[in-house]
Amino acid sequence: MWRLFSAWLVVRITGSIPLGWFGGDGLVEELAVCPLCSQVSVDLEHILAFCMGTGFLRGTIPISEDTDVVRWVLLGSDDVDTLYKQVRYFGTCIVTCMHAAKMHA
Ligand SMILES: [Zn+2]
Repeated sequence: MWRLFSAWLVVRITGSIPLGWFGGDGLVEELAVCPLCSQVSVDLEHILAFCMGTGFLRGTIPISEDTDVVRWVLLGSDDVDTLYKQVRYFGTCIVTCMHAAKMHA
């Protein structure tokens, strides 16, 4: 969890995709191709908020339909349960994406 939390903090600062924390290489602003849905030139917003490959995860977080998912994930909270959900959602989305990338490699 601390590893996820450190990745989440870096993402809050950079807005980039922290592949280096998840078995990949460094921080990147975008992926040439999304390993989950094959859309080209995708950024963090795609992975967290729009990719159909992470859509099943969005049902696990306490947001309404009109919530800006990226803003919610990166906002942080002084409520530990909410903070845990934000960091865990972020981490699970990236892990899901990285896992798919390894399957395609
Ligand atoms: Zn995608």
